[in-house]
Amino acid sequence: MRPRHTAAWCKMSSEMATMPLSKPRVYLIDDEPDILKILRDVVELTGLEAYCFSQAADFINEVQCFEGENILILDLQMPRIDGIEVIRHLAKMENSPELILMSGQDHAVLSGAENLAVAHALVVRGTLEKPLSIARLRNMLEPQASIRSSKPIGDPIGLGHDVSVEELREALDFDQFVLHYQPKEEFALKGASKYSAECLVRWQHPAQGLIYPSRFIELIEKQGWMPDLTTIVFKQAISQQRQWQKEGLQIDLSINVSASDITSLILPETISRLLADNELDTTTITLEVTETELMGELTTSLDVLTRLRLKGVLLSIDDFGTGYSSLLQLYRMPFSELKIDQSFVSKIVVDMEALAIVKACIVLGQQFNMRVVAEGVEDLATKELLAELGCQAAQGYYVAKPMPCEDFSAWLASQLKS
Ligand code: C2E
Ligand code: MG
Ligand code: MG
Repeated sequence: MRPRHTAAWCKMSSEMATMPLSKPRVYLIDDEPDILKILRDVVELTGLEAYCFSQAADFINEVQCFEGENILILDLQMPRIDGIEVIRHLAKMENSPELILMSGQDHAVLSGAENLAVAHALVVRGTLEKPLSIARLRNMLEPQASIRSSKPIGDPIGLGHDVSVEELREALDFDQFVLHYQPKEEFALKGASKYSAECLVRWQHPAQGLIYPSRFIELIEKQGWMPDLTTIVFKQAISQQRQWQKEGLQIDLSINVSASDITSLILPETISRLLADNELDTTTITLEVTETELMGELTTSLDVLTRLRLKGVLLSIDDFGTGYSSLLQLYRMPFSELKIDQSFVSKIVVDMEALAIVKACIVLGQQFNMRVVAEGVEDLATKELLAELGCQAAQGYYVAKPMPCEDFSAWLASQLKS
Protein backbone atom coordinates (compact mmCIF):
# COMPACT_ATOMS: atom_id res chain seq x y z
CA MET A 1 0.00 0.00 0.00
CA ARG A 2 1.25 3.47 -0.85
CA PRO A 3 2.24 5.43 2.26
CA ARG A 4 -0.05 8.36 2.98
CA HIS A 5 -0.04 11.56 4.97
CA THR A 6 -2.29 12.02 8.03
CA ALA A 7 -4.86 14.82 8.37
CA ALA A 8 -2.38 16.93 10.34
CA TRP A 9 0.15 16.48 7.57
CA CYS A 10 -2.36 17.46 4.87
CA LYS A 11 -2.94 20.77 6.69
CA MET A 12 0.78 21.33 6.72
CA SER A 13 1.29 20.24 3.12
CA SER A 14 -1.19 22.85 1.82
CA GLU A 15 1.25 25.46 3.16
CA MET A 16 4.10 23.60 1.44
CA ALA A 17 2.27 23.69 -1.88
CA THR A 18 3.15 27.38 -2.12
CA MET A 19 6.90 26.52 -2.09
CA PRO A 20 8.81 26.38 -5.36
CA LEU A 21 9.19 22.68 -6.20
CA SER A 22 12.93 22.85 -6.85
CA LYS A 23 13.81 23.73 -3.25
CA PRO A 24 14.21 20.87 -0.81
CA ARG A 25 12.01 20.69 2.26
CA VAL A 26 13.93 20.59 5.49
CA TYR A 27 12.55 18.58 8.39
CA LEU A 28 14.05 19.09 11.84
CA ILE A 29 13.80 16.71 14.79
CA ASP A 30 15.33 17.69 18.12
CA ASP A 31 13.90 17.43 21.62
CA GLU A 32 15.68 20.60 22.81
CA PRO A 33 13.47 23.65 22.00
CA ASP A 34 16.43 26.09 21.92
CA ILE A 35 18.35 23.99 19.42
CA LEU A 36 15.24 23.48 17.32
CA LYS A 37 14.78 27.26 17.16
CA ILE A 38 18.42 27.87 16.13
CA LEU A 39 18.17 25.17 13.47
CA ARG A 40 14.95 26.64 12.12
CA ASP A 41 16.53 30.13 11.91
CA VAL A 42 19.57 28.79 10.02
CA VAL A 43 17.40 26.84 7.58
CA GLU A 44 15.18 29.86 6.94
CA LEU A 45 18.23 32.10 6.47
CA THR A 46 19.32 29.86 3.60
CA GLY A 47 15.93 30.46 1.96
CA LEU A 48 14.49 27.03 2.73
CA GLU A 49 11.40 26.20 4.77
CA ALA A 50 11.73 24.28 8.01
CA TYR A 51 9.25 21.76 9.43
CA CYS A 52 10.00 21.28 13.12
CA PHE A 53 9.29 18.30 15.35
CA SER A 54 10.27 18.10 19.01
CA GLN A 55 9.41 14.40 19.13
CA ALA A 56 10.38 11.69 16.66
CA ALA A 57 7.00 9.99 17.20
CA ASP A 58 5.17 13.04 15.79
CA PHE A 59 7.41 13.04 12.71
CA ILE A 60 6.81 9.31 12.16
CA ASN A 61 3.03 9.68 12.57
CA GLU A 62 2.63 12.79 10.49
CA VAL A 63 5.06 12.32 7.62
CA GLN A 64 4.18 9.10 5.91
CA CYS A 65 5.53 9.77 2.43
CA PHE A 66 8.09 12.00 0.77
CA GLU A 67 7.85 13.77 -2.54
CA GLY A 68 10.56 15.76 -4.31
CA GLU A 69 13.82 16.55 -2.56
CA ASN A 70 13.89 16.47 1.23
CA ILE A 71 16.49 16.91 3.95
CA LEU A 72 16.12 15.71 7.53
CA ILE A 73 18.27 17.21 10.29
CA LEU A 74 18.11 14.56 12.97
CA ASP A 75 19.26 14.61 16.59
CA LEU A 76 20.41 11.13 17.62
CA GLN A 77 19.89 11.33 21.35
CA MET A 78 16.21 11.82 22.18
CA PRO A 79 13.90 10.37 24.85
CA ARG A 80 11.42 7.67 23.75
CA ILE A 81 12.20 7.23 20.06
CA ASP A 82 15.87 8.03 19.29
CA GLY A 83 17.60 8.97 16.03
CA ILE A 84 18.68 5.41 15.28
CA GLU A 85 15.07 4.24 15.38
CA VAL A 86 14.17 7.06 12.99
CA ILE A 87 16.94 5.89 10.61
CA ARG A 88 15.55 2.36 10.75
CA HIS A 89 12.07 3.73 9.99
CA LEU A 90 13.32 5.83 7.05
CA ALA A 91 15.12 2.83 5.56
CA LYS A 92 11.72 1.21 4.93
CA MET A 93 10.27 4.25 3.16
CA GLU A 94 10.45 5.29 -0.47
CA ASN A 95 12.33 8.46 -1.46
CA SER A 96 13.71 8.99 2.04
CA PRO A 97 15.20 12.41 2.82
CA GLU A 98 18.95 13.08 2.79
CA LEU A 99 20.24 13.14 6.36
CA ILE A 100 22.22 15.56 8.48
CA LEU A 101 22.95 13.76 11.74
CA MET A 102 23.61 15.60 15.03
CA SER A 103 24.78 14.51 18.42
CA GLY A 104 26.21 15.94 21.61
CA GLN A 105 27.97 12.63 22.31
CA ASP A 106 31.44 11.68 21.11
CA HIS A 107 32.30 11.47 17.44
CA ALA A 108 32.25 7.66 17.39
CA VAL A 109 28.49 7.69 17.99
CA LEU A 110 27.97 10.02 15.04
CA SER A 111 30.12 7.97 12.72
CA GLY A 112 28.42 4.74 13.85
CA ALA A 113 25.05 6.27 13.00
CA GLU A 114 26.37 7.51 9.66
CA ASN A 115 27.66 4.06 8.74
CA LEU A 116 24.35 2.52 9.75
CA ALA A 117 22.41 4.99 7.59
CA VAL A 118 24.71 4.34 4.62
CA ALA A 119 24.38 0.58 5.13
CA HIS A 120 20.60 1.13 4.85
CA ALA A 121 21.27 2.88 1.50
CA LEU A 122 20.30 6.29 2.89
CA VAL A 123 22.22 9.38 1.77
CA VAL A 124 24.08 11.28 4.49
CA ARG A 125 24.87 14.94 3.75
CA GLY A 126 27.02 15.27 6.83
CA THR A 127 27.31 15.02 10.59
CA LEU A 128 27.28 17.79 13.21
CA GLU A 129 28.64 17.70 16.71
CA LYS A 130 26.99 19.81 19.39
CA PRO A 131 27.67 22.66 20.13
CA LEU A 132 26.62 23.27 16.57
CA SER A 133 28.75 24.95 13.93
CA ILE A 134 26.30 27.16 12.07
CA ALA A 135 28.75 27.61 9.17
CA ARG A 136 29.03 23.82 8.69
CA LEU A 137 25.27 23.44 8.79
CA ARG A 138 24.82 26.19 6.19
CA ASN A 139 27.37 24.45 3.95
CA MET A 140 25.49 21.19 4.23
CA LEU A 141 22.28 22.92 3.17
CA GLU A 142 23.85 24.36 0.02
CA PRO A 143 22.37 22.95 -3.20
CA GLN A 144 25.74 21.52 -4.27
CA ALA A 145 26.65 20.34 -0.79
CA SER A 146 29.10 17.51 -1.23
CA ILE A 147 27.30 14.35 -0.32
CA ARG A 148 29.27 11.82 1.66
CA SER A 149 30.24 8.56 0.08
CA SER A 150 27.44 6.03 0.06
CA LYS A 151 29.92 3.14 0.29
CA PRO A 152 29.83 1.64 3.78
CA ILE A 153 33.23 1.10 5.39
CA GLY A 154 34.44 -2.43 4.79
CA ASP A 155 31.86 -3.37 2.17
CA PRO A 156 32.82 -4.43 -1.31
CA ILE A 157 31.73 -2.21 -4.20
CA GLY A 158 28.15 -3.22 -5.26
CA LEU A 159 27.81 -6.89 -6.02
CA GLY A 160 25.43 -8.46 -8.46
CA HIS A 161 25.40 -11.41 -10.80
CA ASP A 162 23.09 -10.42 -13.57
CA VAL A 163 25.42 -12.11 -16.06
CA SER A 164 24.98 -15.74 -17.04
CA VAL A 165 27.49 -18.53 -16.44
CA GLU A 166 27.40 -19.46 -20.15
CA GLU A 167 28.20 -15.92 -21.26
CA LEU A 168 31.04 -15.73 -18.79
CA ARG A 169 32.57 -18.99 -20.04
CA GLU A 170 32.31 -17.68 -23.58
CA ALA A 171 34.04 -14.45 -22.51
CA LEU A 172 36.94 -16.45 -21.06
CA ASP A 173 37.21 -18.67 -24.11
CA PHE A 174 36.96 -15.84 -26.66
CA ASP A 175 39.14 -13.21 -25.00
CA GLN A 176 36.49 -10.64 -24.16
CA PHE A 177 38.47 -9.17 -21.26
CA VAL A 178 40.46 -5.96 -21.44
CA LEU A 179 42.61 -4.17 -18.89
CA HIS A 180 42.33 -0.62 -17.72
CA TYR A 181 45.31 1.00 -16.03
CA GLN A 182 45.01 3.31 -13.03
CA PRO A 183 48.09 5.38 -12.12
CA LYS A 184 49.69 5.27 -8.68
CA GLU A 185 51.61 8.44 -7.95
CA GLU A 186 54.74 8.21 -5.83
CA PHE A 187 55.18 11.16 -3.50
CA ALA A 188 58.47 12.60 -4.65
CA LEU A 189 60.40 14.72 -2.18
CA LYS A 190 62.38 16.29 -5.00
CA GLY A 191 62.01 16.32 -8.77
CA ALA A 192 59.22 14.95 -10.92
CA SER A 193 56.57 12.51 -9.72
CA LYS A 194 56.99 8.87 -10.65
CA TYR A 195 54.07 6.70 -11.73
CA SER A 196 53.25 3.02 -11.72
CA ALA A 197 49.85 1.49 -12.53
CA GLU A 198 47.28 -1.01 -11.24
CA CYS A 199 45.73 -3.32 -13.87
CA LEU A 200 41.95 -3.55 -13.47
CA VAL A 201 40.05 -6.04 -15.57
CA ARG A 202 36.88 -5.18 -17.52
CA TRP A 203 34.65 -7.43 -19.60
CA GLN A 204 34.04 -6.04 -23.08
CA HIS A 205 30.60 -7.60 -23.49
CA PRO A 206 29.46 -7.81 -27.14
CA ALA A 207 25.97 -6.46 -26.36
CA GLN A 208 26.19 -4.73 -22.96
CA GLY A 209 29.45 -2.83 -23.43
CA LEU A 210 32.02 -2.53 -20.67
CA ILE A 211 31.21 -4.53 -17.51
CA TYR A 212 33.05 -3.85 -14.22
CA PRO A 213 34.49 -6.59 -11.98
CA SER A 214 31.87 -6.20 -9.25
CA ARG A 215 29.43 -7.86 -11.68
CA PHE A 216 31.49 -10.93 -12.56
CA ILE A 217 34.47 -11.59 -10.23
CA GLU A 218 32.40 -13.39 -7.61
CA LEU A 219 30.78 -15.62 -10.21
CA ILE A 220 34.17 -16.46 -11.75
CA GLU A 221 35.45 -17.36 -8.29
CA LYS A 222 32.36 -19.50 -7.60
CA GLN A 223 32.76 -21.40 -10.87
CA GLY A 224 36.43 -22.11 -10.11
CA TRP A 225 37.52 -20.19 -13.22
CA MET A 226 39.76 -17.64 -11.56
CA PRO A 227 43.02 -19.22 -12.86
CA ASP A 228 41.66 -18.75 -16.43
CA LEU A 229 40.98 -15.07 -15.83
CA THR A 230 44.29 -14.53 -14.04
CA THR A 231 46.17 -16.09 -16.97
CA ILE A 232 44.41 -13.72 -19.40
CA VAL A 233 45.14 -10.71 -17.15
CA PHE A 234 48.83 -11.63 -16.72
CA LYS A 235 49.39 -12.20 -20.43
CA GLN A 236 47.82 -8.86 -21.37
CA ALA A 237 49.52 -6.92 -18.58
CA ILE A 238 52.96 -8.29 -19.28
CA SER A 239 52.75 -7.88 -23.05
CA GLN A 240 51.56 -4.27 -22.50
CA GLN A 241 54.43 -3.65 -20.10
CA ARG A 242 56.85 -5.04 -22.68
CA GLN A 243 55.32 -2.80 -25.36
CA TRP A 244 55.76 0.26 -23.13
CA GLN A 245 59.33 -0.78 -22.39
CA LYS A 246 60.06 -0.90 -26.13
CA GLU A 247 58.67 2.65 -26.37
CA GLY A 248 61.08 3.71 -23.62
CA LEU A 249 58.52 3.79 -20.81
CA GLN A 250 59.38 1.89 -17.63
CA ILE A 251 56.02 1.27 -15.91
CA ASP A 252 55.83 -1.01 -12.91
CA LEU A 253 52.49 -2.84 -12.77
CA SER A 254 50.29 -4.12 -9.96
CA ILE A 255 48.06 -7.09 -10.73
CA ASN A 256 45.19 -8.34 -8.54
CA VAL A 257 45.23 -12.01 -7.64
CA SER A 258 42.70 -14.03 -5.71
CA ALA A 259 42.72 -16.86 -3.18
CA SER A 260 42.50 -19.60 -5.79
CA ASP A 261 45.54 -18.17 -7.58
CA ILE A 262 47.78 -18.32 -4.56
CA THR A 263 46.84 -21.88 -3.81
CA SER A 264 48.41 -22.95 -7.08
CA LEU A 265 51.93 -24.11 -6.22
CA ILE A 266 53.19 -23.51 -9.76
CA LEU A 267 52.22 -19.80 -9.76
CA PRO A 268 55.73 -18.51 -8.89
CA GLU A 269 57.29 -20.47 -11.76
CA THR A 270 54.53 -19.48 -14.23
CA ILE A 271 54.97 -15.78 -13.44
CA SER A 272 58.75 -15.77 -13.47
CA ARG A 273 58.83 -17.66 -16.79
CA LEU A 274 56.32 -15.24 -18.38
CA LEU A 275 58.44 -12.29 -17.22
CA ALA A 276 61.69 -13.86 -18.42
CA ASP A 277 60.16 -14.63 -21.85
CA ASN A 278 59.34 -10.94 -22.13
CA GLU A 279 62.73 -9.81 -20.83
CA LEU A 280 61.15 -8.09 -17.85
CA ASP A 281 62.47 -7.94 -14.32
CA THR A 282 60.40 -9.65 -11.60
CA THR A 283 60.71 -6.55 -9.39
CA THR A 284 58.56 -4.58 -11.86
CA ILE A 285 55.48 -6.59 -10.84
CA THR A 286 53.48 -6.31 -7.63
CA LEU A 287 50.74 -8.81 -6.87
CA GLU A 288 47.82 -7.33 -4.91
CA VAL A 289 46.22 -9.87 -2.61
CA THR A 290 43.06 -9.20 -0.63
CA GLU A 291 43.72 -10.21 2.94
CA THR A 292 40.45 -12.02 3.75
CA GLU A 293 41.12 -14.36 0.86
CA LEU A 294 44.35 -15.58 2.40
CA MET A 295 42.81 -17.28 5.35
CA GLY A 296 41.91 -20.62 3.72
CA GLU A 297 44.89 -22.80 2.96
CA LEU A 298 47.54 -21.16 5.07
CA THR A 299 50.48 -23.45 4.36
CA THR A 300 50.00 -23.41 0.58
CA SER A 301 49.53 -19.64 0.38
CA LEU A 302 52.55 -19.08 2.63
CA ASP A 303 54.61 -21.38 0.38
CA VAL A 304 53.47 -19.62 -2.82
CA LEU A 305 53.82 -16.07 -1.49
CA THR A 306 57.25 -16.70 0.00
CA ARG A 307 58.59 -18.21 -3.22
CA LEU A 308 57.18 -15.29 -5.21
CA ARG A 309 59.07 -12.90 -2.93
CA LEU A 310 62.23 -15.01 -3.29
CA LYS A 311 61.94 -14.65 -7.05
CA GLY A 312 61.76 -10.86 -6.61
CA VAL A 313 58.02 -10.33 -7.22
CA LEU A 314 56.55 -7.71 -4.86
CA LEU A 315 53.43 -8.41 -2.80
CA SER A 316 50.80 -5.97 -1.64
CA ILE A 317 48.14 -6.57 0.99
CA ASP A 318 45.11 -4.95 -0.71
CA ASP A 319 42.10 -3.29 0.99
CA PHE A 320 44.04 -3.32 4.25
CA GLY A 321 41.93 -2.76 7.34
CA THR A 322 38.69 -4.32 6.13
CA GLY A 323 39.20 -8.03 6.81
CA TYR A 324 39.16 -10.00 10.00
CA SER A 325 42.85 -10.78 10.46
CA SER A 326 44.71 -7.85 9.01
CA LEU A 327 47.39 -7.92 11.68
CA LEU A 328 47.74 -11.67 11.64
CA GLN A 329 48.19 -11.73 7.86
CA LEU A 330 50.73 -8.95 8.07
CA TYR A 331 52.63 -10.87 10.71
CA ARG A 332 52.60 -14.18 8.81
CA MET A 333 52.91 -13.28 5.14
CA PRO A 334 55.91 -11.72 3.35
CA PHE A 335 54.21 -8.55 2.09
CA SER A 336 56.25 -5.65 0.77
CA GLU A 337 53.41 -3.15 0.37
CA LEU A 338 50.38 -2.21 2.44
CA LYS A 339 47.47 -0.70 0.55
CA ILE A 340 45.06 1.12 2.83
CA ASP A 341 41.41 0.54 1.92
CA GLN A 342 39.66 3.40 0.17
CA SER A 343 36.74 3.48 2.61
CA PHE A 344 39.10 4.94 5.26
CA VAL A 345 41.25 7.03 2.92
CA SER A 346 38.32 8.84 1.29
CA LYS A 347 37.16 10.15 4.69
CA ILE A 348 40.36 11.33 6.39
CA VAL A 349 39.65 15.02 5.89
CA VAL A 350 36.23 14.89 7.54
CA ASP A 351 36.31 11.93 9.89
CA MET A 352 38.67 11.76 12.88
CA GLU A 353 38.30 8.00 13.34
CA ALA A 354 39.10 7.27 9.68
CA LEU A 355 42.12 9.57 10.01
CA ALA A 356 43.28 7.73 13.14
CA ILE A 357 43.03 4.38 11.32
CA VAL A 358 45.00 5.66 8.32
CA LYS A 359 47.70 7.11 10.62
CA ALA A 360 47.94 3.77 12.43
CA CYS A 361 48.23 1.88 9.12
CA ILE A 362 51.07 4.16 8.01
CA VAL A 363 52.98 3.64 11.28
CA LEU A 364 52.38 -0.10 11.02
CA GLY A 365 53.67 -0.17 7.45
CA GLN A 366 56.77 1.77 8.49
CA GLN A 367 57.44 -0.60 11.38
CA PHE A 368 57.21 -3.57 9.02
CA ASN A 369 59.46 -1.80 6.51
CA MET A 370 56.71 -1.83 3.91
CA ARG A 371 55.70 0.69 1.28
CA VAL A 372 52.37 2.27 2.19
CA VAL A 373 49.94 3.16 -0.60
CA ALA A 374 46.57 4.87 -0.16
CA GLU A 375 43.73 4.04 -2.54
CA GLY A 376 40.57 6.11 -3.07
CA VAL A 377 42.27 9.54 -3.08
CA GLU A 378 39.60 11.80 -4.50
CA ASP A 379 40.81 15.34 -3.73
CA LEU A 380 43.90 17.46 -3.23
CA ALA A 381 43.35 17.93 0.52
CA THR A 382 43.41 14.14 1.01
CA LYS A 383 46.52 13.71 -1.13
CA GLU A 384 48.41 16.45 0.72
CA LEU A 385 47.44 15.09 4.11
CA LEU A 386 48.59 11.58 3.14
CA ALA A 387 51.97 12.89 1.94
CA GLU A 388 52.35 14.79 5.22
CA LEU A 389 51.55 11.64 7.21
CA GLY A 390 54.33 9.69 5.48
CA CYS A 391 52.36 7.64 2.97
CA GLN A 392 54.54 6.81 -0.08
CA ALA A 393 52.06 6.71 -2.92
CA ALA A 394 48.50 7.69 -3.80
CA GLN A 395 45.97 6.11 -6.13
CA GLY A 396 42.50 7.46 -6.82
CA TYR A 397 40.27 9.57 -9.01
CA TYR A 398 42.18 12.72 -8.01
CA VAL A 399 45.33 11.37 -9.64
CA ALA A 400 43.40 9.74 -12.51
CA LYS A 401 40.62 7.22 -13.15
CA PRO A 402 41.43 3.79 -14.63
CA MET A 403 41.83 4.07 -18.42
CA PRO A 404 42.56 1.93 -21.51
CA CYS A 405 46.24 1.45 -22.42
CA GLU A 406 46.33 4.07 -25.22
CA ASP A 407 44.83 6.71 -22.92
CA PHE A 408 47.28 5.75 -20.19
CA SER A 409 50.30 6.36 -22.46
CA ALA A 410 48.90 9.75 -23.52
CA TRP A 411 48.08 10.66 -19.91
CA LEU A 412 51.57 9.70 -18.76
CA ALA A 413 53.20 11.71 -21.55
CA SER A 414 51.19 14.79 -20.53
CA GLN A 415 52.21 14.36 -16.87
CA LEU A 416 55.86 13.94 -17.69
CA LYS A 417 55.80 17.08 -19.87
CA SER A 418 54.20 19.32 -17.24
P1 C2E B 1 40.83 -3.04 -5.89
O1 C2E B 1 41.95 -3.90 -6.31
O2 C2E B 1 40.82 -2.55 -4.50
O3 C2E B 1 40.79 -1.84 -6.94
C1 C2E B 1 40.39 -0.54 -6.64
C2 C2E B 1 38.99 -0.26 -7.11
O4 C2E B 1 38.64 1.05 -6.69
C3 C2E B 1 38.85 -0.25 -8.63
O5 C2E B 1 37.51 -0.64 -8.93
C4 C2E B 1 39.02 1.23 -8.97
O6 C2E B 1 38.42 1.61 -10.18
C5 C2E B 1 38.32 1.87 -7.79
N1 C2E B 1 38.84 3.21 -7.51
C6 C2E B 1 40.07 3.69 -7.77
N2 C2E B 1 40.21 4.95 -7.35
C7 C2E B 1 39.04 5.29 -6.76
C8 C2E B 1 38.57 6.50 -6.12
O7 C2E B 1 39.26 7.51 -6.01
N3 C2E B 1 37.30 6.46 -5.63
C9 C2E B 1 36.50 5.36 -5.77
N4 C2E B 1 35.26 5.41 -5.27
N5 C2E B 1 36.92 4.21 -6.37
C10 C2E B 1 38.17 4.19 -6.85
P2 C2E B 1 37.22 -1.76 -10.04
O8 C2E B 1 38.08 -1.60 -11.22
O9 C2E B 1 35.74 -1.78 -10.23
O10 C2E B 1 37.71 -3.09 -9.32
C11 C2E B 1 37.07 -3.58 -8.17
C12 C2E B 1 37.79 -4.76 -7.60
O11 C2E B 1 37.76 -5.89 -8.49
C13 C2E B 1 39.28 -4.51 -7.36
O12 C2E B 1 39.44 -3.79 -6.15
C14 C2E B 1 39.81 -5.94 -7.31
O13 C2E B 1 39.61 -6.49 -6.02
C15 C2E B 1 38.91 -6.65 -8.28
N6 C2E B 1 39.66 -6.82 -9.55
C16 C2E B 1 39.87 -5.90 -10.55
N7 C2E B 1 40.63 -6.44 -11.52
C17 C2E B 1 40.93 -7.72 -11.13
C18 C2E B 1 41.70 -8.79 -11.70
O14 C2E B 1 42.30 -8.68 -12.77
N8 C2E B 1 41.77 -9.97 -10.99
C19 C2E B 1 41.14 -10.11 -9.78
N9 C2E B 1 41.26 -11.30 -9.14
N10 C2E B 1 40.41 -9.14 -9.20
C20 C2E B 1 40.30 -7.95 -9.87
MG1 MG C 1 43.85 -3.91 -6.05
MG1 MG D 1 41.61 -2.10 -2.91
